[in-house]
Amino acid sequence: MRLLPGAAAGLAELKNAGFELIVVSNQSAVARGLATPEDVSAIEDKIVALLAKKGVAIDSWYYCFHHPSAKLEKWRAICDCRKPAPGMLLRAAKERGIDLERSFLVGNMWSDILAANRAGVRAVMLATTPEKTALEASSYADEAEAWAIAETLYEAAKLIVEAEKRSVSRGTPPEVSPTVPAGQEARDRNQNRKRQATK
Ligand SMILES: [Zn+2]
Repeated sequence: MRLLPGAAAGLAELKNAGFELIVVSNQSAVARGLATPEDVSAIEDKIVALLAKKGVAIDSWYYCFHHPSAKLEKWRAICDCRKPAPGMLLRAAKERGIDLERSFLVGNMWSDILAANRAGVRAVMLATTPEKTALEASSYADEAEAWAIAETLYEAAKLIVEAEKRSVSRGTPPEVSPTVPAGQEARDRNQNRKRQATK
């Protein structure tokens, strides 16, 4: 296992700017019986260790193990936490006293972006895994609205920190409307990637 380029540096940027770092992750492999919560926990431990080497710590982790057609009855549910549902974000906000309006979600799936939209959190689409994103595009891309698109977590962090600085220096509320590049551009780029992928 390895960290994606810019991941640790991006998280460090956000932490330095005063953001809490929270992971919200769908892990329906548990519902499908392909992994156990312990397996997921072991992966989390590895990520924690890799980030620790770079001096970065995640503040909290939230998982959804459910799936509507789960093999295991325990996890078979139409839950409020499986993204694009906003449950994990809302729970994190409640439990940790987080202001969603001042928060950002960085994700690489349109279901992430839609979950953020539904929670009132600005969303940055991370185009690190275009093949995965393109596959998912048909289901949620039309509905989801990305605030920005970035190639790496470091680039995403820079956009977020700059936006935060602008609103703080002006004393204005957080910028809520999509800036550059906005959701439509993100979708166009996604479409282009899809076309490239099928060439
Ligand atoms: Zn769930």
